[in-house]
Formats: sequence, structure tokens, C-alpha cells
Amino acid sequence: MTCERVILPGGGAAIVCTTSKRKRCACGKRATLECDWKVPSRRSGTCDAPICASCTTSPAPEKDLCPAHAAAYEQWKEQRRG
Ligand SMILES: [Zn+2]
Ligand SMILES: [Zn+2]
Repeated sequence: MTCERVILPGGGAAIVCTTSKRKRCACGKRATLECDWKVPSRRSGTCDAPICASCTTSPAPEKDLCPAHAAAYEQWKEQRRG
């Protein structure tokens, strides 16, 4: 969330707060979560794909995966099982 002080034409000022990037999930719903899959090539270190509450896969508390990485996670689990 970014808050900006905006000078109104009449001379007053107002604080306007906007969500810096209004992200949407791939399904079109408002995304409230971000993918936590590790992507070393990204600056943030994680995928950060916007995901809504109904599209997330949560492998652990406070962790969310986008549909693509949920599939990758399933594969990873399979591999570990050997
Ligand atoms: Zn969704
Ligand atoms: Zn992802």
C-alpha cells in the first residue's frame, strides 16, 4: 500500500492510499496471496505469482503455491518418494 499526499485544486490536501499493484489471479479474481515457490533467478527469490484464495495450494502454513508450482511441488514430492 502506498499513501500519497495530494494537493487538491481548491488548495486543500488529501491523503490518497492505493494498493501499488492491484494484482489479479490467473482466474480473474482478486489475488490476496503470492506464490512462495523458490525461483533463484528472480530478484525477490520467489515466484510471486498472484493467486486468489480459491486457486492457492498451501503446502505448509503461511506458504502458497500458484497452480503451476503446485504441480511442480507434486512432482518434487513424487521424486522424493523415489
Ligand atoms: Zn484464482
Ligand atoms: Zn509460482
